Amino acid sequence: MKEDYYSGLRRDMLRHQIAARGIKNPRVLEAMSRVPRHLFVPERLADRAYDDSPLPISDGQTISQPYMVAWMTELLEIAEAAKVLEVGTGSGYQAAILCELAGEVFSIEKYPDLARAAEERLSILGYDNLRIRVGDGTLGWPEEAPFTGIIVTAGAPSVPQPLLEQLADGGRLVIPVGPAGMQMLNVIRRHGNDYRASDEGNCVFVPLVGKFGWKRGRVF
Ligand code: SAH
Repeated sequence: MKEDYYSGLRRDMLRHQIAARGIKNPRVLEAMSRVPRHLFVPERLADRAYDDSPLPISDGQTISQPYMVAWMTELLEIAEAAKVLEVGTGSGYQAAILCELAGEVFSIEKYPDLARAAEERLSILGYDNLRIRVGDGTLGWPEEAPFTGIIVTAGAPSVPQPLLEQLADGGRLVIPVGPAGMQMLNVIRRHGNDYRASDEGNCVFVPLVGKFGWKRGRVF
């Protein structure tokens, strides 16, 4: 019963927030229609899970607005066999969407409790093409590189060099870059040693903190 209620909210979310704003990739829309977002937010906020906004999770972090997840995912242009890296697991919601679309997903989170909770949630939901690790995602995941897609779901001061190096030839990196309060969503495409960046629009994320990110205590 309750599941029907949430599927209804999910359908409305897709129609009014995602499709209405121009997201067209049918695979992205299908993935967003499958993942039960209400299981990725704190229980007391379950009824707001399909609202047009980010929501607090724990450790002062947030689950991104549904449209932002759809937009970034569409920009990644994930092929079925793709090997994708996410920096900033958070609730694991974006990771679940990536698991629906890619062959293999690797996700890095700096807070151990968030990583553990996401891992448990994703395994209960049956996603078995994903690995999560705790650490500084600005260093990437060199043992698993190269990646056909890399998505950073926190705001960076600049593009971390290791992520550029770990991008496969022909791959794409989607990353918000800029100061607190407002970043620019960048897409970087690699062709050999040539990297081309494009600005896609403004966004607001929590800070990417790490060796190639903001320094703790001196964020912004
Ligand atoms: N993708 C998430 C939203 C993430 S919010 C979701 O779908 O819910 C950004 C996350 O990035 C936070 O959980 C934060 O702890 C994490 N983060 C920030 N800097 C990081 C870093 N250097 N390495 C890994 N994770 C980082």
